[in-house]
Formats: sequence, structure tokens, C-alpha cells
Amino acid sequence: MKTVIIRNSTLQFTVGKIVCVGRNYAEHAKELGNEIPEKPVLFLKPSSAIIYSGAKIIYPAFSKDMHHEIELVLLIGKTVKNASITEAEDAITGYGVGLDMTLRDIQNDLKKKGHPWTIAKCFDNSAVVSDFVLKSDYKLSLDEEISLSVNGLVRQKEKLNRMLFHPAEIVEYISSLMTLEEGDLVFTGTPAGVGKVQVGDRLAGEIQNIGKLETAVN
Ligand code: MG
Repeated sequence: MKTVIIRNSTLQFTVGKIVCVGRNYAEHAKELGNEIPEKPVLFLKPSSAIIYSGAKIIYPAFSKDMHHEIELVLLIGKTVKNASITEAEDAITGYGVGLDMTLRDIQNDLKKKGHPWTIAKCFDNSAVVSDFVLKSDYKLSLDEEISLSVNGLVRQKEKLNRMLFHPAEIVEYISSLMTLEEGDLVFTGTPAGVGKVQVGDRLAGEIQNIGKLETAVN
């Protein structure tokens, strides 16, 4: 089982499911040739996909086009179903930084066939996470900047307030479709600037006041 580590706390959460939002920044939807969605686009990752900041991503043998997607990650702290917007906000207990590693060649092929994105999104090491900050220790304003650099060069940089669907709206929507439970994670989508990584690349992600993560591709 994978756990989430909380900064400045002995609290630990066992990760349940990981719900991910696609196309949550307009410029990113456009860069991949997608329409801007009317509702959040959702997919899942297994908890077995998690690695922690400092560990390396193993390039899967079945892809030649692995992309980085830096994202704000929500930690769910209580069970919610059919939540109101207030209950949804209340169910978010912490924030972290995550990388939704994506096999773009596989995903494009799956999209063409109308198949689920599973094998493009669920491989081992495909969810890199930082430690988390509790909401009780930091109030998110959405003015925070999210960024990712590869080998020291900035590839993605945006304000969180450019998200099409904000954290509580995402949780409200997910909870109308499935129960969210303590320890579930929600990846909230990536800003524009996604791109290919190569073996040997060093990736550094950050969200102002939330945290940092580092990894390398092996
Ligand atoms: Mg993503």
C-alpha cells in the first residue's frame, strides 16, 4: 500500500484511488488539439503507480513518447458522496505537487481507437508525488504559480487560477459520480507546455507555498 506523507505532521494517509482530471487548463487542451470541456474529463490511476519525490521514473519499454504533466494534487480527508460545494471544499484536507506521467504515443493511439487511456496513464512510476501540506497549515488562494523544469529549463509555468474547474468544483463533480474516501487523491490537470522526456532528464516541479518534487528518468 502507498501512503501520503504530510509535512510537519505525523499523520499518514493510505492512498485509495487516484482520480485525475484531463484538459483543465484551456491552453493545454488546445496544445493537444482538444476541445475545452464542459465538465471535467476524468480518468483513474492505481495507487501502485505512485513514487515519491527523489525516486526515479523508469521509462516503460512499450512507449517512445513519455510526457511530463505537472499538477496540483488534492488529498481527500473524509468520505463524501453527492457533496455540495461546501462539503466538497471541506473534504479536501491537504495539497501536494504531482506529476501525471503520460505515454502520449500510446494515448493518441487509444484515442483514435476510442479505447480507454488506461495503459497510457496507469504504468508503474506514472504518479510522482511530493509530501503534502495540510489545509489547516496553508490556505490555497489559487494565485500560486505551478511550474516544471527539465534539466533546469522551465517547460510549464502557470497560475493555478487558470484552472477551468477549481478544486471544490472538481470534488463536487467526482462525488456525484463515485464516493470519494479518506486517502483518495485528485490530480487536477496540467497547464500548457507538456512535452517529451528522455532517459537521463532531471525533472523539478513546484507549486508556490505548497511544495516541490524532484525526479529523474531512468
Ligand atoms: Mg494530467
